[in-house]
Amino acid sequence: MKHRKKLLATLLAGAMCLALSACGGGDTPASASPASSGAGTSASPSGEPLAADVQAIVDRGVLRVGVKPDVPGFGYQDVLTEEYSGMEVDLAHQIAQSLGVDRVAFTPVTAATRGQLLDSGDIDMVIATFTITDERRDSWNFTTPYYTDAVSLLVKTDSGIADYADLEGKVIGVSTGSTSMESLIAVAAENGVTLTQADNFSEYATYPEIKTALDAGRVDAFCVDGSILSGYLDDSVEILDSIRFSPQEYGIATALANTGLAEYLDELINTWLDDGTIDQMISDNGVAPSFEG
Ligand code: GLU
Repeated sequence: MKHRKKLLATLLAGAMCLALSACGGGDTPASASPASSGAGTSASPSGEPLAADVQAIVDRGVLRVGVKPDVPGFGYQDVLTEEYSGMEVDLAHQIAQSLGVDRVAFTPVTAATRGQLLDSGDIDMVIATFTITDERRDSWNFTTPYYTDAVSLLVKTDSGIADYADLEGKVIGVSTGSTSMESLIAVAAENGVTLTQADNFSEYATYPEIKTALDAGRVDAFCVDGSILSGYLDDSVEILDSIRFSPQEYGIATALANTGLAEYLDELINTWLDDGTIDQMISDNGVAPSFEG
């Protein structure tokens, strides 16, 4: 009997924890599990004492994370409830739980703002479809990738665009600060098509603005990672299966000076890749398996 009560209590705690991590929020409890009782942890996943930059987060009692507000499945903010959901939001909650930190404060970021917010110290980390590149490694630390996507194109169903050659003379909408334009120029060149920033691209601050431009006919295609494009599908548009290129490995980014935090996060990600936690988050959030190109 005692066992059954305990089991019930554990199941209820688990259900609460799932409900909380599934909905997230602007400033939400990390989890209802005993691991985040507010006491804070005193050791890294491998049992080492915490580095000063990690201890500072534990002492503050709030984990500050930059996430996307407009990428369903990864980081998405419900306009009515203002709550966040997605695998990157789940990752943030899980990190807070591992630190024993009770609250996660989410800040919405774009491709253009996420690095600046790290540099200014406004947030502790970015978990926001942030592709690891050699150039970016000069500015921020990145963990081992937790997901791999590829770049693609969203076009109107009657666009007539099916291959790289069809992009000649077209205007493509991309987000400022993203890898998309550079990747598309490179892959088009490999396929014998010359695209230039001046003639073939229009840059926008946010993804909803690119979709509006596509709907209005101001751009002929919307180019970014497939995971981001899938949030903008409707009856009038399609993602081109024939154009999928440039693997995008997503890592958690931290400010360059925060080496202790970077190591702590890398250990967590490797543990969660090995024990199936990340795979579970991918399937819980209806995200397609990582690109294996
Ligand atoms: N993942 C790509 C990048 O980091 C696309 C842009 C984005 O994440 O918003 O540049």
